Amino acid sequence: NVILSVKNLTANVEGTPILKGLNLEIKAGEVHAIMGRNGSGKSTLSKVLTGHPDYEVTGGEVLYKGENILDKEPHERALDGIFLAFQYPLEIPGVSNLDFLRVAYNARQKHLGLEEIDTFDFEDLVGEKLEIVKMNPSFLERSLNEGFSGGEKKRNEILQMALLEPSLAILDEIDSGLDIDALRIVANGVNQLATPDNALLVITHYQRLLDYIEPHYVHVMHAGQIVKTGGKELALELEATGYDFIEEKLLAKA
Ligand code: ADP
Ligand code: MG
Ligand code: MG
Repeated sequence: NVILSVKNLTANVEGTPILKGLNLEIKAGEVHAIMGRNGSGKSTLSKVLTGHPDYEVTGGEVLYKGENILDKEPHERALDGIFLAFQYPLEIPGVSNLDFLRVAYNARQKHLGLEEIDTFDFEDLVGEKLEIVKMNPSFLERSLNEGFSGGEKKRNEILQMALLEPSLAILDEIDSGLDIDALRIVANGVNQLATPDNALLVITHYQRLLDYIEPHYVHVMHAGQIVKTGGKELALELEATGYDFIEEKLLAKA
């Protein structure tokens, strides 16, 4: 029941190596957090996993449910159940949130060999999911993310996640720019969506989010590698001591 297995992954951005031999294994039912300084490569990892074209994989492997996904297009990975909640969700004027969600939902239904859902049934389904993120139905009629506050955008990402029921959800700094109430709503939403069958990868700068989304494992990323792994207490340690231990460890090695 391994959902994601990353082995010795290396990747470049614009010719510069950013990921430098990253290893990570996530099983079904697990919540993993990745912490680390700005620029350590956390977002790069999320983009490489979802197949962003600007990120060139130069070595290693990524298995999703036992299958190599590195040759798959981003939309194929999404259809296969890999979901990325963006740090900065895109605004798409002229496309209603409801239509966007229905198209995404039906693409997935089709991929799974299931029937497409009609407009009325879909509105019922979305109505249920709105409660998870405490969103007002009026958001469905608005253009996708246009004029949404930071918190509303993040809640909308979680709404997408609730509808698509991914097997692997990657949340990249879902807490950035959120006040404490929005943070709680978003975190509670995510917690409701964690099941024994799916896996969550939560990327964050701050320990605070992990008070609400409790990880089974916390990884520290530095210079494109995971340099330390621990339980949820590691996040508290980091909050207290910062990331200076990394340099000390590297110096000790040298
Ligand atoms: P984090 O998410 O941990 O803050 P990132 O993955 O965003 O780190 O960035 C890691 C490094 O890769 C940084 O030095 C950043 O400047 C560089 N980088 C990331 N994306 C790009 C890009 N599209 N073009 C050039 N450099 C990039
Ligand atoms: Mg950053
Ligand atoms: Mg980032």
